[in-house]
Amino acid sequence: MAKTCLFCESTGPFTEEDLNSKWMRKAKLFPEGPEWRYDITKELGGRPYPTRRLTSPTTKVPGVCLRCNTRWMSGLERRSKPLLIPMIKDYRTVLAPRDQSVIARWITMKTMVSEWHEVLAGRYFFEKSERRAMGINQTMPVTARVWLARHREYLFPFSRGVLFTDAAFTALASTLVYGHFVAQALVVHRKRDSAKNVTPASDSQGWTVEIWSPSREEREEAWPPQESLDNRTLKSFQERWELQSRWLSA
Ligand SMILES: [Zn+2]
Repeated sequence: MAKTCLFCESTGPFTEEDLNSKWMRKAKLFPEGPEWRYDITKELGGRPYPTRRLTSPTTKVPGVCLRCNTRWMSGLERRSKPLLIPMIKDYRTVLAPRDQSVIARWITMKTMVSEWHEVLAGRYFFEKSERRAMGINQTMPVTARVWLARHREYLFPFSRGVLFTDAAFTALASTLVYGHFVAQALVVHRKRDSAKNVTPASDSQGWTVEIWSPSREEREEAWPPQESLDNRTLKSFQERWELQSRWLSA
């Protein structure tokens, strides 16, 4: 079978997508350093996932077609840049609903690209239909939720995915860090209708501003949130998930 683009049915030509956005390098937001990290770790009740790590800020991801890369992906980068730079540099900002939706899509695109690069063949988390929906008109996965947070320090970019699986669902919580800006996306794939849910621990609320969820009301959101993360709480933030067991009535 011919290889197709990560986001559409195109069989080429392909480009290589930078995991770190080009505008970040042009804006000299981060020193030219040795690392961009994307880890996918484990598991909650499932078998361990292999953890792999990228080590270059210029790591390229093959598999995105020229059309996707130069059209909707670069458009999304262009719209995200002026919204993200103030938060990366730690300026207070207010995000209109439209801004929140741009940022949520950018984070989800980045997560899909990183995951495509990292996970061993045949074990991708995002389904083809979700990647296609993103490619066609930047539709978010139906269960997606996205939160923003702030770190006290200016950190080099990295991201980490935590994968939860059991008989009833698989969920990926992906945390991305750029300078003071922290974002987290959660996507849940339920294998059965009646089952468990994955929810963030309630004591982590002061750390976050939620900018995307299936049931959210549109309103402005101010960044940063009340509480800021440090290195210890960043780790708790990445792993703040609780399994909620309840049977949903149909
Ligand atoms: Zn494409």
